[in-house]
Amino acid sequence: MTTNPPDLRPDLAPRAKIGDTPRPGQPTIGMVSLGCPKALVDSERILTRLRAEGYGISPDYKGADAVIVNTCGFLDSAKAESLDAIGEALSENGRVIVTGCLGAEPEYITGAHPKVLAVTGPHQYEQVLDAVHGAVPPAPDPFVDLLPASGVSLTPRHYSYLKISEGCNHRCKFCIIPDMRGRLVSRPAHAVVREAERLVEAGVKELLVISQDTSAYGADRKHDTERGIRTHIDDLARELGGLGAWVRLHYVYPYPRVRQLIPMMAEGLILPYLDIPFQHAHPETLKRMARPAAGIRTLDEIAAWRDICPDITLRSTFIVGYPGETEEEFQTLLDWLDEAQLDRVGCFQYENVAGARSADLPDHVAEDVKQDRWDRFMAKAQAISEAKLAQKVGQRIEVIVDEVDAEAATCRTKGDAPEIDGNLFIDEGFEALSPGDIVTVEVDEAGEYDLWGRLV
Ligand code: SF4
Repeated sequence: MTTNPPDLRPDLAPRAKIGDTPRPGQPTIGMVSLGCPKALVDSERILTRLRAEGYGISPDYKGADAVIVNTCGFLDSAKAESLDAIGEALSENGRVIVTGCLGAEPEYITGAHPKVLAVTGPHQYEQVLDAVHGAVPPAPDPFVDLLPASGVSLTPRHYSYLKISEGCNHRCKFCIIPDMRGRLVSRPAHAVVREAERLVEAGVKELLVISQDTSAYGADRKHDTERGIRTHIDDLARELGGLGAWVRLHYVYPYPRVRQLIPMMAEGLILPYLDIPFQHAHPETLKRMARPAAGIRTLDEIAAWRDICPDITLRSTFIVGYPGETEEEFQTLLDWLDEAQLDRVGCFQYENVAGARSADLPDHVAEDVKQDRWDRFMAKAQAISEAKLAQKVGQRIEVIVDEVDAEAATCRTKGDAPEIDGNLFIDEGFEALSPGDIVTVEVDEAGEYDLWGRLV
């Protein structure tokens, strides 16, 4: 039987795989994409532009004339991983351009790897392209370099991330994203919808809406209306829901206005799924984190959402061992989780990130206490997940097929986002299935995080 690895890290998307064979003599670039789905979207944009300019995309270091490393700088462990990836690209290829979140700290990169050709920050698409042009001049051939209508996607063709805004107006103390990515800038809704239409026309069956703060979408534009569509998440969700694909919302904050989205989930217009980074439940911890919506009574909101849409799947991430977190605060979090009964939970032990204001807070928690709290939290989260999945046995549900191999078809239910949630496996009679198929199964077995089912 196929299962997910137990240490699936929700914050680190797997390295993107690129399979694209360049023609002989074509200038060719390799790409290593690290970090979260938002970084993956940036990589896709860069590759789309390069393809449009006539570059080939190499699936390995050796076939590339230069390599772009799109880095992540969110946690110190992610920074170390980025530096390792740059070092590997330098030793395997030698011509390396660095971009992405860690590019906001160029000295940090050049200090460790002085031979990189260029360092650019997040979303500096033009600068990345300039650096590529300098390192490997383009050689366009209009007869063969036709840009696919949907752009170049690093994710499988049947699902695609859709970035609706960049940056964030909050100042959570553990986070340096606003310093790296700037304040909120929303894309006009008509442009997002046009991109989504093109993706759906090209065969995408599931759209994953991402941003740093999806519920704030359009606030920077005062929710203006352009070409008939208001830049507001309610309007955007309704438009996207009309395209016939699954629409999944990530990074929503628990403001009371989120209740307006839930009827669209109950109607089946968008998926009954909310990815809400609660991070903690004790008001004092949330205050010390300077979290948005810290004063909201989240259990009341969750109850209201479930009243409107009983099938809703709630996913969230938490930090344990935040500076000053007392045993009593942690116990409040555990009690909250007992009551909230979230379906999917990720948890991190607090880590100091260079430049984050939380590092200066008093009363840092000892490593062994962090570990103990993490163990207790995850044990509870796992028990909840297991009990919730067990209730699905015997139900008939729709799933989307992600992958088919000799052993099984790996699928996801409407409650599972790719890369971060569980899977449903079909290990009998699956041979005719293809990625992107949406089929109905009867669930016949449940594990801690995954389900098994058979086609009906
Ligand atoms: S809401 Fe907080 S954690 Fe999220 S990007 Fe903004 S500052 Fe960072």
